[in-house]
Amino acid sequence: MSLKKAKEIIRQLHKNGHEAYIVGGVVRDQLLGRPLGDIDIATSAIPEMVQRIFEKTIPVGIEHGTVIVRMEGESFEVTTFRKEGEYEDFRHPSEVVFHDSIEKDLSRRDFTVNAMALSSDGKIIDPYSGKEDLANKLIRAVGNAEDRFQEDPLRMMRALRFISTLGFHLHQDTRLALISCGPLLKKVSVERIREEFTKLLLGRHCEQALKCIKEMRLDPFLPSGPFALTFNQVTKYDWNHLETAVERWAGLLIRIGVERPYDWLNEWKLPTILRKRISELVQIIRAEPDFSCDLTLYHYGVEQMVSASNVKRFMNEDPGVSEKHILNRYDQLSLKDRSQLAIDGNDLMDMVKRTPGPWIAEILEEIEQRVVKGEVKNTFPDIKEWINECKRPLESD
Ligand code: ATP
Ligand code: MG
Repeated sequence: MSLKKAKEIIRQLHKNGHEAYIVGGVVRDQLLGRPLGDIDIATSAIPEMVQRIFEKTIPVGIEHGTVIVRMEGESFEVTTFRKEGEYEDFRHPSEVVFHDSIEKDLSRRDFTVNAMALSSDGKIIDPYSGKEDLANKLIRAVGNAEDRFQEDPLRMMRALRFISTLGFHLHQDTRLALISCGPLLKKVSVERIREEFTKLLLGRHCEQALKCIKEMRLDPFLPSGPFALTFNQVTKYDWNHLETAVERWAGLLIRIGVERPYDWLNEWKLPTILRKRISELVQIIRAEPDFSCDLTLYHYGVEQMVSASNVKRFMNEDPGVSEKHILNRYDQLSLKDRSQLAIDGNDLMDMVKRTPGPWIAEILEEIEQRVVKGEVKNTFPDIKEWINECKRPLESD
């Protein structure tokens, strides 16, 4: 993401007589020297004006004052200064009032470290001492923490997520509010909780965030909660070995000893495809696989086996092979997929003149396994020769 392009947008807004600033997470990450995510811009211009000024815009949330401005192939969210009104259903502000000051706009933001604005000449507008909290690694609600969590309980998940991604601690007042407002998490949709929780799982300080959840007794209010998490166990879990979201979720399931991963994940409403991948990964680990077995590699695929070896390391166990070894073995597999087999069911029937039946699948599976193990070459004549030799298909119907 380019700050230069964002500054060009701000320059054009200025030229048209409007105020504009870079706001939110990017200001925080810039000060921390972290990689920048999406760049958000706040402006005094209302959406219609923004649409008039820029050539390419996408009206993604006009009612919330947001327009995407496209600048040389990149997208920037440009949002009119606003202050939210009353919260109706714990989800959407019942009205968004546009305000003409950046200070008001910053006052509606969740935490002090997220409530700073950066002007085009590099000045930081920081009415809530976000910079100081940044230096002290503190997550502190803007204003009264309890009120802010009651307004939007998702902010509690965001606080936990920043503990994990930034390695910060909760300010005492914010911590107390989190404890007292915990039950309100039940009012937030599972999807929104899951989105923040996945970011939490992907954070470098995930173990610390899980510990906070447990200490503050928030886990009963999460999907699938309460969690059987303990922190005095002998195994030292090392989350750094886990890279993808699938691996991190699997790590969590192992970490808390979930017996039925698929059902447990169902409560988080994870997309089926992810649920299957994650629970299969847990199942692979629990089956104590031989990581140098070609058949296992063929069966589960290279991605799952690399993930499984990462989860093993997370558990402080040695998979016995390196990632490179798994990748090399996979490269050398004579068969990656059944469709690559040099023979199919029709060939088999032609060859042995036998009526179709379950024998076809059985024999194909056996051929497949022998090819993967390198016992039979994957060519039509070689497979035919093996069939003739073992004469299996000719046995009685
Ligand atoms: P990330 O690095 O994950 O993008 P972020 O802080 O930018 O973190 P976003 O979800 O992109 O988080 O939100 C952008 C900004 O909008 C935040 O920094 C914060 O100022 C504000 N914000 C987001 N969600 C809320 C919320 N629920 N309540 C109040 N302010 C919020
Ligand atoms: Mg962001």
